[in-house]
Amino acid sequence: MLLDLSFKQIQEYAEQKHLPKFRGKQIFDAILNAKPASQTNLPKQVLQQIESDYPHFEIVKKLISKDGTIKYALRMGDGQVIESVLMHHDYGTTLCVSSQVGCAMGCKFCASSLNGLVRNLSAGEILQQVAMVNKDLGGSVKKRAITNIVLMGMGEPLDNYQNVTKFLQLACDEDSFNFSQRNITLSTCGIVPKIYQLADDGFSVTLTISLHAVSDAKRKKTMPIANKYSIKQIISACKYYFNKTGRRISFEYALIADENDSMQDAEKLAHLVRGLNCHINVIPLNDVKERGLKGTQIKKAYAFVEKLNSLGVNATKRRSMGEDIAGACGQLRQSVVKEES
Ligand code: SAH
Repeated sequence: MLLDLSFKQIQEYAEQKHLPKFRGKQIFDAILNAKPASQTNLPKQVLQQIESDYPHFEIVKKLISKDGTIKYALRMGDGQVIESVLMHHDYGTTLCVSSQVGCAMGCKFCASSLNGLVRNLSAGEILQQVAMVNKDLGGSVKKRAITNIVLMGMGEPLDNYQNVTKFLQLACDEDSFNFSQRNITLSTCGIVPKIYQLADDGFSVTLTISLHAVSDAKRKKTMPIANKYSIKQIISACKYYFNKTGRRISFEYALIADENDSMQDAEKLAHLVRGLNCHINVIPLNDVKERGLKGTQIKKAYAFVEKLNSLGVNATKRRSMGEDIAGACGQLRQSVVKEES
């Protein structure tokens, strides 16, 4: 697919098709500005030549939350529908992108893995989410309407390492959207060797760890990945990542009523991250009806955050966005696929 290619590669592609150089530039502009093939200024003959490689741009559904968050359902070339969520913050506009169709991680509180992993998204399909939403907001490749990207949609980004890192390169390419890595956040449930690899491969995006428990025993109850890697191994990998990149680490901690939300949990959490330059995002668990776990009451969530702060830990309660349109953390799923097929 053409969105998998850099500007230079598209020029080579055009050359191989015996097209003049300026056609390469036209194709590149058209796809990054998410123009459906029929709306480009490319002649019919050229379109016929590139048809099978041209991206499929189709917004299947767009839901707008009362807080302004927008959930997009986007159809990929093979018919799979994925979700991306746009959020407005005072510091900018953040797009939450999916990295896989479904997810193999099986976290007990999350909707994304209810049907397991269907397939990885290609780098171009992840970039396509940026291109399409940017266009929908009235932006263009030169005048971006999206300031930040978070890889926090459906899927585990480090379980699709090759495509995700290629996406990072494409999104940060100055011929393309020219994002800075510091405006991109990658969230992982903690695939330890890939955290080291990310640092060693020279990436410096903001790293977020989905922690959600303070002991391995507790973590194993909700996150199968905890059977593979311990919290201790995760923290060591975070230290390595911080030392290599200088980027402050974030942790996600979803409060589950009577599971991980006691004051002792807060104390243990503070102890775990001691000495690490980090920030903890605390959020009461969002509802996922099939999962049956309950989020902590808001008052108790504030008390949890205060406890962390009193112990010298940088922590805030995160505002949940888009809950009324099932666009909040852990609520992205494949439901649209089922409705459509
Ligand atoms: N697989 C990656 C990327 C997904 S990001 C990861 O695990 O980090 C989505 C975030 O939402 C993760 O922090 C995930 O643990 C969290 N999450 C999942 N279900 C949730 C729920 N029901 N309520 C709140 N957060 C949830």
